[in-house]
Amino acid sequence: MTEPAKYTKEFSELLESSDNILLISHINPDGDAIGSQLALYHFLSSRGKKVEMMCPNNLQEFLKWMDGSDRINVFIRKRKKCIQLIKDARLIVMLDFNHPNRLGEAESFVTSSRVPKVIIDHHLEPIDFADLIISDPSRCSTAELVHEIVTRLNDGPFRDHSYSESIYVGIITDTGNFEHGSYTGNTMRVVADLLDTGIDRSKVLNTVYNNFSADRMRLMGLALNQRMTILEEYRTAYICLTKQDLADFNHVKGDTEGFVNLPLSIKDIVFSVLFIEKDNYVKLSFRSKGNFPVNDFASKYFSGGGHLNASGGERYDSLENTVGFFLEVLKENGDMLKKAE
Ligand code: 5GP
Ligand code: MN
Repeated sequence: MTEPAKYTKEFSELLESSDNILLISHINPDGDAIGSQLALYHFLSSRGKKVEMMCPNNLQEFLKWMDGSDRINVFIRKRKKCIQLIKDARLIVMLDFNHPNRLGEAESFVTSSRVPKVIIDHHLEPIDFADLIISDPSRCSTAELVHEIVTRLNDGPFRDHSYSESIYVGIITDTGNFEHGSYTGNTMRVVADLLDTGIDRSKVLNTVYNNFSADRMRLMGLALNQRMTILEEYRTAYICLTKQDLADFNHVKGDTEGFVNLPLSIKDIVFSVLFIEKDNYVKLSFRSKGNFPVNDFASKYFSGGGHLNASGGERYDSLENTVGFFLEVLKENGDMLKKAE
Protein backbone atom coordinates (compact mmCIF):
# COMPACT_ATOMS: atom_id res chain seq x y z
CA MET A 1 0.00 0.00 0.00
CA THR A 2 1.41 3.39 -0.96
CA GLU A 3 -1.38 5.84 -0.03
CA PRO A 4 -0.14 7.66 3.13
CA ALA A 5 -3.53 8.68 4.57
CA LYS A 6 -4.88 5.15 4.15
CA TYR A 7 -1.96 3.19 5.56
CA THR A 8 -1.45 5.61 8.43
CA LYS A 9 -5.11 5.18 9.44
CA GLU A 10 -4.88 1.38 9.37
CA PHE A 11 -1.59 1.42 11.26
CA SER A 12 -2.99 3.87 13.79
CA GLU A 13 -5.96 1.55 14.47
CA LEU A 14 -3.62 -1.39 15.05
CA LEU A 15 -1.50 0.72 17.41
CA GLU A 16 -4.60 1.88 19.33
CA SER A 17 -5.74 -1.67 19.94
CA SER A 18 -2.37 -3.14 20.96
CA ASP A 19 -0.12 -2.40 23.84
CA ASN A 20 2.83 -4.79 23.77
CA ILE A 21 4.47 -3.84 20.50
CA LEU A 22 7.54 -5.61 19.13
CA LEU A 23 9.65 -3.84 16.51
CA ILE A 24 11.89 -6.09 14.42
CA SER A 25 14.65 -5.14 11.99
CA HIS A 26 16.38 -7.44 9.50
CA ILE A 27 19.42 -9.71 9.65
CA ASN A 28 22.73 -7.86 9.25
CA PRO A 29 20.89 -4.66 10.14
CA ASP A 30 22.09 -1.56 8.33
CA GLY A 31 21.67 2.08 9.30
CA ASP A 32 18.21 2.24 7.79
CA ALA A 33 16.97 -0.87 9.60
CA ILE A 34 18.24 0.33 12.99
CA GLY A 35 17.39 3.99 12.29
CA SER A 36 13.77 3.14 11.39
CA GLN A 37 13.42 0.80 14.34
CA LEU A 38 14.77 3.29 16.87
CA ALA A 39 12.79 6.20 15.40
CA LEU A 40 9.52 4.30 15.76
CA TYR A 41 10.61 3.13 19.21
CA HIS A 42 11.21 6.71 20.39
CA PHE A 43 7.90 7.91 18.98
CA LEU A 44 5.74 5.08 20.33
CA SER A 45 7.46 5.19 23.74
CA SER A 46 6.70 8.91 23.96
CA ARG A 47 3.04 7.97 23.46
CA GLY A 48 3.16 5.70 26.51
CA LYS A 49 3.23 2.45 24.55
CA LYS A 50 5.13 -0.57 25.81
CA VAL A 51 7.60 -1.22 23.03
CA GLU A 52 10.30 -3.88 22.71
CA MET A 53 12.92 -4.25 19.99
CA MET A 54 14.64 -7.22 18.45
CA CYS A 55 16.92 -7.97 15.55
CA PRO A 56 18.16 -11.33 14.26
CA ASN A 57 21.91 -10.78 14.67
CA ASN A 58 24.49 -8.29 15.93
CA LEU A 59 24.57 -4.58 15.19
CA GLN A 60 27.61 -3.15 13.46
CA GLU A 61 29.93 -1.04 15.60
CA PHE A 62 29.10 2.17 13.74
CA LEU A 63 25.47 1.98 14.90
CA LYS A 64 26.04 1.21 18.57
CA TRP A 65 26.24 4.87 19.61
CA MET A 66 22.62 5.49 18.72
CA ASP A 67 20.26 6.28 21.58
CA GLY A 68 18.23 3.14 22.37
CA SER A 69 20.46 0.73 20.41
CA ASP A 70 21.43 -1.04 23.66
CA ARG A 71 17.75 -1.90 24.12
CA ILE A 72 17.65 -3.91 20.89
CA ASN A 73 17.63 -7.61 21.79
CA VAL A 74 19.79 -9.67 19.47
CA PHE A 75 18.07 -13.00 18.73
CA ILE A 76 21.20 -15.11 18.31
CA ARG A 77 22.57 -13.78 21.61
CA LYS A 78 19.39 -13.77 23.72
CA ARG A 79 17.37 -16.52 22.11
CA LYS A 80 15.18 -17.35 25.11
CA LYS A 81 14.33 -13.73 25.85
CA CYS A 82 13.58 -12.99 22.20
CA ILE A 83 11.29 -16.01 21.85
CA GLN A 84 9.43 -14.74 24.93
CA LEU A 85 9.22 -11.23 23.45
CA ILE A 86 7.68 -12.69 20.29
CA LYS A 87 5.19 -14.67 22.43
CA ASP A 88 4.28 -11.63 24.54
CA ALA A 89 3.86 -9.23 21.62
CA ARG A 90 0.36 -8.13 20.69
CA LEU A 91 1.52 -6.37 17.53
CA ILE A 92 4.66 -7.06 15.49
CA VAL A 93 6.09 -4.34 13.27
CA MET A 94 8.87 -5.33 10.86
CA LEU A 95 11.09 -2.66 9.41
CA ASP A 96 13.17 -2.41 6.25
CA PHE A 97 12.58 -5.88 4.84
CA ASN A 98 9.85 -7.69 2.99
CA HIS A 99 10.85 -11.34 2.94
CA PRO A 100 10.54 -13.65 5.98
CA ASN A 101 14.02 -15.10 5.36
CA ARG A 102 15.47 -11.74 6.46
CA LEU A 103 14.39 -12.75 10.00
CA GLY A 104 17.26 -15.24 10.15
CA GLU A 105 16.89 -17.75 12.99
CA ALA A 106 13.84 -15.88 14.31
CA GLU A 107 11.85 -16.62 11.13
CA SER A 108 9.71 -19.55 12.29
CA PHE A 109 8.95 -17.92 15.66
CA VAL A 110 7.76 -14.69 14.04
CA THR A 111 5.85 -16.22 11.15
CA SER A 112 3.99 -18.64 13.44
CA SER A 113 2.85 -15.84 15.76
CA ARG A 114 -0.88 -15.16 15.36
CA VAL A 115 -0.86 -11.51 16.38
CA PRO A 116 -1.31 -8.77 13.73
CA LYS A 117 1.86 -8.06 11.78
CA VAL A 118 2.86 -4.94 9.93
CA ILE A 119 5.66 -4.44 7.41
CA ILE A 120 7.06 -0.96 6.80
CA ASP A 121 9.52 -1.13 3.94
CA HIS A 122 10.78 0.31 0.67
CA HIS A 123 12.11 -2.78 -1.17
CA LEU A 124 10.52 -3.97 -4.39
CA GLU A 125 8.09 -6.89 -4.59
CA PRO A 126 7.06 -7.58 -0.99
CA ILE A 127 6.15 -11.12 0.03
CA ASP A 128 2.73 -11.27 1.65
CA PHE A 129 3.47 -12.40 5.21
CA ALA A 130 1.85 -9.59 7.21
CA ASP A 131 -1.64 -8.19 7.81
CA LEU A 132 -0.69 -4.67 6.79
CA ILE A 133 2.06 -4.07 4.24
CA ILE A 134 3.17 -0.47 4.03
CA SER A 135 5.48 -0.69 1.06
CA ASP A 136 6.71 2.27 -0.93
CA PRO A 137 9.72 1.60 -3.18
CA SER A 138 9.73 5.24 -4.25
CA ARG A 139 11.16 6.14 -0.82
CA CYS A 140 14.93 6.34 -0.51
CA SER A 141 14.80 4.61 2.85
CA THR A 142 12.41 2.99 5.28
CA ALA A 143 13.32 5.86 7.61
CA GLU A 144 11.78 8.35 5.17
CA LEU A 145 8.58 6.28 5.17
CA VAL A 146 8.58 6.00 8.97
CA HIS A 147 8.95 9.77 9.16
CA GLU A 148 5.90 10.21 6.91
CA ILE A 149 3.87 7.90 9.16
CA VAL A 150 5.06 9.43 12.43
CA THR A 151 4.45 12.98 11.17
CA ARG A 152 0.88 11.99 10.29
CA LEU A 153 0.27 10.12 13.54
CA ASN A 154 1.62 13.15 15.42
CA ASP A 155 -0.33 15.70 13.34
CA GLY A 156 2.96 17.46 12.62
CA PRO A 157 6.71 16.91 13.02
CA PHE A 158 7.64 14.91 16.11
CA ARG A 159 10.35 17.04 17.70
CA ASP A 160 12.63 14.70 19.57
CA HIS A 161 16.39 14.65 19.29
CA SER A 162 16.91 10.87 19.36
CA TYR A 163 14.07 10.34 16.92
CA SER A 164 15.51 12.89 14.47
CA GLU A 165 18.99 11.40 14.66
CA SER A 166 17.55 7.94 13.97
CA ILE A 167 15.65 9.05 10.87
CA TYR A 168 18.69 10.98 9.67
CA VAL A 169 20.97 7.93 10.04
CA GLY A 170 18.47 5.83 8.04
CA ILE A 171 18.39 8.37 5.23
CA ILE A 172 22.11 9.02 4.95
CA THR A 173 23.13 5.36 5.14
CA ASP A 174 20.62 4.25 2.49
CA THR A 175 21.58 7.04 0.09
CA GLY A 176 25.35 6.89 0.75
CA ASN A 177 25.11 10.36 2.24
CA PHE A 178 23.05 11.57 -0.75
CA GLU A 179 25.23 9.95 -3.39
CA HIS A 180 22.81 7.34 -4.75
CA GLY A 181 20.03 8.49 -7.01
CA SER A 182 17.08 7.22 -5.01
CA TYR A 183 16.47 10.31 -2.89
CA THR A 184 13.89 12.87 -3.90
CA GLY A 185 12.68 16.36 -3.13
CA ASN A 186 10.57 14.81 -0.38
CA THR A 187 13.70 13.30 1.18
CA MET A 188 15.20 16.77 1.33
CA ARG A 189 12.03 18.19 2.93
CA VAL A 190 12.29 15.46 5.57
CA VAL A 191 15.95 16.33 6.11
CA ALA A 192 14.95 19.98 6.46
CA ASP A 193 12.49 18.98 9.22
CA LEU A 194 15.24 17.02 10.95
CA LEU A 195 17.77 19.83 10.76
CA ASP A 196 15.15 22.17 12.22
CA THR A 197 15.04 19.99 15.32
CA GLY A 198 18.71 20.80 15.84
CA ILE A 199 20.44 17.50 15.13
CA ASP A 200 24.19 17.70 15.07
CA ARG A 201 24.85 16.84 11.43
CA SER A 202 28.62 16.69 11.69
CA LYS A 203 28.52 14.52 14.81
CA VAL A 204 26.30 12.01 13.00
CA LEU A 205 28.49 12.05 9.87
CA ASN A 206 31.64 11.60 11.92
CA THR A 207 30.26 8.69 13.93
CA VAL A 208 28.81 6.94 10.87
CA TYR A 209 31.51 7.59 8.28
CA ASN A 210 34.71 8.75 9.94
CA ASN A 211 35.01 6.16 12.63
CA PHE A 212 36.83 3.28 10.98
CA SER A 213 40.09 1.60 11.96
CA ALA A 214 43.35 2.03 10.07
CA ASP A 215 43.14 -1.70 9.28
CA ARG A 216 39.89 -1.10 7.46
CA MET A 217 41.50 1.54 5.25
CA ARG A 218 44.35 -0.88 4.48
CA LEU A 219 41.87 -3.64 3.66
CA MET A 220 40.18 -1.22 1.26
CA GLY A 221 43.58 -0.59 -0.31
CA LEU A 222 44.12 -4.31 -0.81
CA ALA A 223 40.60 -4.69 -2.24
CA LEU A 224 41.13 -1.97 -4.84
CA ASN A 225 44.76 -2.65 -5.61
CA GLN A 226 44.93 -6.42 -5.71
CA ARG A 227 41.48 -7.93 -5.48
CA MET A 228 39.53 -5.98 -8.10
CA THR A 229 38.96 -7.33 -11.60
CA ILE A 230 37.59 -5.18 -14.40
CA LEU A 231 35.63 -6.77 -17.22
CA GLU A 232 35.41 -3.93 -19.71
CA GLU A 233 33.37 -5.99 -22.15
CA TYR A 234 30.61 -6.33 -19.55
CA ARG A 235 31.12 -2.88 -18.01
CA THR A 236 31.54 -4.79 -14.76
CA ALA A 237 34.03 -4.75 -11.91
CA TYR A 238 34.21 -7.24 -9.08
CA ILE A 239 36.17 -7.51 -5.84
CA CYS A 240 36.86 -10.82 -4.06
CA LEU A 241 37.93 -10.92 -0.44
CA THR A 242 38.95 -14.21 1.15
CA LYS A 243 38.62 -15.16 4.80
CA GLN A 244 42.40 -14.86 5.03
CA ASP A 245 42.29 -11.29 3.66
CA LEU A 246 39.79 -10.33 6.34
CA ALA A 247 41.81 -12.04 9.06
CA ASP A 248 45.02 -10.34 7.90
CA PHE A 249 43.41 -6.95 8.53
CA ASN A 250 41.68 -7.82 11.82
CA HIS A 251 38.30 -7.49 10.21
CA VAL A 252 35.33 -6.50 12.35
CA LYS A 253 31.69 -6.47 11.26
CA GLY A 254 31.02 -3.47 9.02
CA ASP A 255 34.57 -3.05 7.73
CA THR A 256 33.66 -3.96 4.15
CA GLU A 257 30.59 -1.69 4.17
CA GLY A 258 30.76 0.62 1.15
CA PHE A 259 33.52 -1.26 -0.71
CA VAL A 260 31.06 -2.43 -3.36
CA ASN A 261 30.23 1.15 -4.32
CA LEU A 262 33.82 2.09 -5.11
CA PRO A 263 34.21 0.53 -8.59
CA LEU A 264 31.11 2.38 -9.81
CA SER A 265 33.12 5.58 -9.89
CA ILE A 266 35.20 4.12 -12.74
CA LYS A 267 34.17 5.52 -16.12
CA ASP A 268 31.86 3.15 -18.06
CA ILE A 269 31.52 0.63 -15.21
CA VAL A 270 27.80 0.11 -14.55
CA PHE A 271 27.84 -3.09 -12.47
CA SER A 272 29.90 -3.79 -9.36
CA VAL A 273 30.05 -6.94 -7.27
CA LEU A 274 31.71 -7.72 -3.95
CA PHE A 275 32.35 -11.36 -3.03
CA ILE A 276 33.11 -12.10 0.60
CA GLU A 277 34.19 -15.59 1.56
CA LYS A 278 32.41 -16.95 4.67
CA ASP A 279 32.72 -20.32 6.44
CA ASN A 280 30.68 -22.42 4.03
CA TYR A 281 29.22 -19.87 1.67
CA VAL A 282 29.94 -16.62 -0.15
CA LYS A 283 28.08 -13.37 0.56
CA LEU A 284 27.60 -11.17 -2.48
CA SER A 285 26.75 -7.48 -2.75
CA PHE A 286 25.63 -5.94 -6.02
CA ARG A 287 25.47 -2.31 -7.11
CA SER A 288 24.65 -0.73 -10.46
CA LYS A 289 24.41 2.65 -12.10
CA GLY A 290 21.40 3.31 -14.32
CA ASN A 291 18.89 0.68 -15.35
CA PHE A 292 20.72 -2.64 -14.87
CA PRO A 293 18.47 -4.34 -12.27
CA VAL A 294 20.74 -5.90 -9.68
CA ASN A 295 17.73 -6.99 -7.60
CA ASP A 296 16.65 -9.28 -10.46
CA PHE A 297 20.22 -10.52 -10.87
CA ALA A 298 20.47 -11.25 -7.13
CA SER A 299 17.16 -13.08 -6.93
CA LYS A 300 17.61 -15.04 -10.18
CA TYR A 301 21.10 -16.39 -9.45
CA PHE A 302 21.98 -15.82 -5.80
CA SER A 303 18.82 -16.36 -3.68
CA GLY A 304 18.82 -12.67 -2.82
CA GLY A 305 17.10 -9.43 -3.62
CA GLY A 306 17.05 -5.74 -2.79
CA HIS A 307 16.67 -2.62 -4.88
CA LEU A 308 17.16 -1.83 -8.57
CA ASN A 309 20.66 -0.43 -7.93
CA ALA A 310 21.64 -2.11 -4.64
CA SER A 311 21.06 -5.72 -3.72
CA GLY A 312 22.66 -8.74 -2.15
CA GLY A 313 22.63 -12.50 -2.18
CA GLU A 314 24.60 -15.60 -1.26
CA ARG A 315 25.79 -18.93 -2.61
CA TYR A 316 26.67 -22.03 -0.62
CA ASP A 317 29.83 -22.92 -2.49
CA SER A 318 33.53 -22.10 -2.49
CA LEU A 319 34.71 -18.63 -3.46
CA GLU A 320 36.34 -19.97 -6.60
CA ASN A 321 33.21 -21.82 -7.77
CA THR A 322 31.03 -18.84 -6.92
CA VAL A 323 33.15 -16.52 -9.06
CA GLY A 324 33.07 -19.15 -11.83
CA PHE A 325 29.29 -19.34 -11.64
CA PHE A 326 29.05 -15.55 -11.62
CA LEU A 327 31.18 -15.28 -14.77
CA GLU A 328 28.89 -17.81 -16.48
CA VAL A 329 25.70 -15.97 -15.63
CA LEU A 330 27.28 -12.62 -16.42
CA LYS A 331 27.50 -13.76 -20.05
CA GLU A 332 23.72 -14.24 -20.11
CA ASN A 333 23.39 -10.59 -19.10
CA GLY A 334 26.01 -9.30 -21.52
CA ASP A 335 23.56 -7.63 -23.91
CA MET A 336 21.70 -5.89 -21.12
CA LEU A 337 24.95 -4.64 -19.59
CA LYS A 338 26.27 -3.35 -22.91
CA LYS A 339 23.05 -1.42 -23.48
CA ALA A 340 22.57 -0.27 -19.89
CA GLU A 341 22.12 3.46 -19.47
P1 5GP B 1 24.28 -4.94 1.01
O1 5GP B 1 24.97 -5.17 -0.30
O2 5GP B 1 24.57 -3.55 1.52
O3 5GP B 1 24.48 -6.02 1.99
O4 5GP B 1 22.73 -4.94 0.68
C1 5GP B 1 22.17 -4.08 -0.26
C2 5GP B 1 20.68 -4.26 -0.32
O5 5GP B 1 20.37 -5.59 -0.71
C3 5GP B 1 19.98 -4.02 0.99
O6 5GP B 1 18.85 -3.22 0.71
C4 5GP B 1 19.55 -5.36 1.48
O7 5GP B 1 18.31 -5.28 2.06
C5 5GP B 1 19.52 -6.21 0.22
N1 5GP B 1 20.09 -7.54 0.50
C6 5GP B 1 21.37 -7.82 0.87
N2 5GP B 1 21.55 -9.13 1.02
C7 5GP B 1 20.36 -9.72 0.73
C8 5GP B 1 19.89 -11.09 0.72
O8 5GP B 1 20.65 -12.05 0.98
N3 5GP B 1 18.59 -11.27 0.39
C9 5GP B 1 17.76 -10.23 0.06
N4 5GP B 1 16.48 -10.50 -0.25
N5 5GP B 1 18.16 -8.96 0.08
C10 5GP B 1 19.43 -8.70 0.40
MN1 MN C 1 16.56 0.42 3.65
